[in-house]
Amino acid sequence: MVITNLDNQYKNFKKIAKSYLNSEQWSIVEKAYNFANNAHGNQTRLTGDKFITHPLETATYLAELHLDYNTLAAGLLHDVIEDCDVTLPDLIHLFGEEISSLVQGVTKLTEVENVSEIRWEENVQTHSILEAQTLRKMLMTVAEDIRVVLIKLSDRLHNMETIDPLPQDRKIKLSKETMEIYAPLAHRLGMWDFKWRLEDLAFRNLDPTMYKRVAMLVNSKRTNRDEYILKAINLLKDKLEKVDIVAEVKGRSKHLFSIYRKILLYEKENKTIDEIYDLFAIRVIVQNVKDCYISLGEIHNIWPPLTGEFDDYIARPKDNMYRSIHTSVRGDNNYPIEIQIRTTEMDEYAEHGVAAHWKYKEGSVDDDTFDKKMIWLRQLLDWQREVPGDQEFIDSFKTDIFNDQVYVFTPKGEVKELPIGSTPLDFAYRIHTDIGHSCIGAKVNEKLVTLNKQLNNGDIVDIVTSPSEKGPNLDWLNSDLKYVITSSAKEKIRLWFRKSKKVENIKRGKSLVNKNISKLGLDISLESLVENTKYASGDDLLNDIGNGSITITDLVKNISLKDTKTEQITQNEFVDNITDSINVLGVGDLLTRLAKCCTPIKGTEIIGYITRNRGVTVHDKKCTNILSEKEIDRFISVSWGLNETLYSVRIYVEAIDRVGLLKDITSLLSDERINISGSMTENIDENSYITLNIYVKSMSQLNSVFTKIENIKSVLNVKRLN
Ligand code: MN
Repeated sequence: MVITNLDNQYKNFKKIAKSYLNSEQWSIVEKAYNFANNAHGNQTRLTGDKFITHPLETATYLAELHLDYNTLAAGLLHDVIEDCDVTLPDLIHLFGEEISSLVQGVTKLTEVENVSEIRWEENVQTHSILEAQTLRKMLMTVAEDIRVVLIKLSDRLHNMETIDPLPQDRKIKLSKETMEIYAPLAHRLGMWDFKWRLEDLAFRNLDPTMYKRVAMLVNSKRTNRDEYILKAINLLKDKLEKVDIVAEVKGRSKHLFSIYRKILLYEKENKTIDEIYDLFAIRVIVQNVKDCYISLGEIHNIWPPLTGEFDDYIARPKDNMYRSIHTSVRGDNNYPIEIQIRTTEMDEYAEHGVAAHWKYKEGSVDDDTFDKKMIWLRQLLDWQREVPGDQEFIDSFKTDIFNDQVYVFTPKGEVKELPIGSTPLDFAYRIHTDIGHSCIGAKVNEKLVTLNKQLNNGDIVDIVTSPSEKGPNLDWLNSDLKYVITSSAKEKIRLWFRKSKKVENIKRGKSLVNKNISKLGLDISLESLVENTKYASGDDLLNDIGNGSITITDLVKNISLKDTKTEQITQNEFVDNITDSINVLGVGDLLTRLAKCCTPIKGTEIIGYITRNRGVTVHDKKCTNILSEKEIDRFISVSWGLNETLYSVRIYVEAIDRVGLLKDITSLLSDERINISGSMTENIDENSYITLNIYVKSMSQLNSVFTKIENIKSVLNVKRLN
């Protein structure tokens, strides 16, 4: 364990702080340090360091962001009320109102955390509720004084950096909280640097094996990548020099957690890590806005731009003040390169977000513009008022606010920010609950679209409403159809149905159950359906189906296909070269393939080998290639996973015939990774009758596939044949 050298640490802090504070301001910071040092006395941390090293490091991060002297002082004092014999009046007396109220803000947040900690130990279930309270509290604090949150984030960053000596359960708890609350908060404040650091630290503790694995995968590709990027950088530097542009051109490091997320995403699309080309990234930092655009021209001269991969956040900055030009170009060997172009000041904002405000306060950004750019913060608080309970709040927080956003326009040119994947219906509900309820159609960029069309950045959305009282459609809550993805819209729709009359809900529920049960080929009475659920009576069940509280997919979850006379088959029979059924270090389905040299069969002892560019290859432990391999660093332990049982089911689709119909159906099935073993089409007049033999895992999967097929254009009906 390395014990921090307090003298050096303090000297470093002093040097950074004095580089931008005047001597009067510094003397107050110094006074705060001496006071805190004294108050914490001989307290130590589990790392073995004196306690004062913690507030000192917290304040150092704040000084690196050039925050004002009050914030630095408060950073140094942030734990004295909590941990020492010091009261708020003491602080006010010695340091005045401003510093004291910052310290008090941080102390309040810590208290919320402590409550959540006790409850965490008592009952894990209550955790997310308390998390929501923490979030609420944080938001209120942001509204009061954002500097409190900056101190808290610095505090958390240092705590995460010194987490090693803590007991395992505390590590997990702190890391989860960091991942779920603090990193997203840093994200929303545009503080990328903090966000990445927090995420990687939390990732390392939450999933150490995966963390190491991603690090290894990245390193094994690093040399090639570094050479490639270096070549591109040098070429670009030369070109810019020739047109007299002073620029810093550098390769941009991607963080392990973001690479991990990318791997997961690519895996869903069945791509391997070699296809993750956007690991190639370059940043160009120039002196002024004009040079940004000149550089862009030069870049597009060297390499052709990829269509649809261009964003000008200089002309249209993001709400969190982010400004930059993004482009992707086709580099040598056709690898896409992601390039960001920005000025030094923009770069500062991009890395440090709101915190950069202090650094550039005397420069071009005045407090007024700053306030205007904090619109999102007010929106955030508006949503907070809209959503009733704590649980809903945390849901909406996670999906609506922390995810990546698309920016779309009302016909009047007003910008609305929605999570990626949002639809015109989400947009309608965002404008007003009544607009959502009476929505009957939508135009995107003046074209009529379906209500579940995914919106893109820059779309102009015009909602068509019904003049009469209409109310939402139950299908809107069916997650298979993706009509709404924001939890605020879902909640509003649910609320409408909950308020509608019970008899109507029961009626709606009954017709839904009747329709779907026969389609699924089930011969089952309402009574036996009720037995499978927590419901007391048929009417209660139908009521909840009719008001959207539960879906048919939920209802059939517990009914096994096994009981319904089908042929069983194990997935293993489909597995050939690429396989799903191997766990790598306990993580399923990850970029594995069976080695051709020894083609291990299930049950034999196996070992994984990290290849240079094809993910992990699984070999028989006794394979001669393995026995002769010298680079033992590249071995990784793997185990056979569990096979899923599949059931063979015959389905029947009735549709109006059109070109591409069968292809639409089969590609939907293949997207769902459902195998088809046979198909037959019969055309009578204008109609098409398609019989398909498919393999499914469960009744709910079958039901959700039915819903999706029914949603394909010109499909009239789908059912199961027994
Ligand atoms: Mn602290």
